[in-house]
Amino acid sequence: MLFDSHCHFTDEGFDGIRPELAEQIRSSELARIVDIGTDLKTSLKAVLASETYDFCWAAVGYHPAEVGSLTEEELAKCLSLCSRKRVVAIGEIGLDYHWEDNPPRDVQQHWFRRQLQEAARLGMPVCIHSRDADQDTLDILKEEAFPRKVPVLMHCFSGSPELARQYVKIGAKISFAGPITYKNARRNVEAADAVDLKDLLIETDSPYLAPVPMRGKQNLPLYVRYVAEKIAEIKGVSLAEAEDATYRNACDFYRLPY
Ligand SMILES: [Zn+2]
Repeated sequence: MLFDSHCHFTDEGFDGIRPELAEQIRSSELARIVDIGTDLKTSLKAVLASETYDFCWAAVGYHPAEVGSLTEEELAKCLSLCSRKRVVAIGEIGLDYHWEDNPPRDVQQHWFRRQLQEAARLGMPVCIHSRDADQDTLDILKEEAFPRKVPVLMHCFSGSPELARQYVKIGAKISFAGPITYKNARRNVEAADAVDLKDLLIETDSPYLAPVPMRGKQNLPLYVRYVAEKIAEIKGVSLAEAEDATYRNACDFYRLPY
């Protein structure tokens, strides 16, 4: 069985095809997905999807690109969704220094810290988005998350093998997405190789980042199997073993029964 640990099932990109997609998921080996929020609106959509589709769970929170005009009131509204039964994590939260029009770094850092503090208070795992911000992400997690025993998942990991090892050593889980299947993905492959299978999760981040052989097309949660195939190849295990391990790891992380 497969578990897509991070996708955006309620993204507008899937409007119109979602019921059909749900049927395809139900008749496939993809047993579970987590729909990840990026602000109040998308978090609410994720929660509603999780209460509509039996294979779907939700994460709620503010993506670093969305925190520009965030207030404590809005954040409280968003994180109050954690009381809903199908919400399994806070995310995606983190730092994104890649785009110039993202909020200033100090603003991103402030809201990243605040959401980690709330995760600790609420006893929720966190899904981390980190782009071109390796050191600051690590430093903030070391201050706010790990000492408080907040379970951490590094989503769509793109760092070095050394960084992956460092994260696992302090208790984080590492998730790989479509880019690990790309031709130029040597660093990704080396990072996955550096991490024990028991610490690896897989995801699609769909509708973005379709894996090979679907690269360039709209990504679907179903395509998580191509990521599983790549992980099997890298770890030198059968596809069934890779599916099984990543499925169990995701269940453990999100605290769902097998
Ligand atoms: Zn995402």
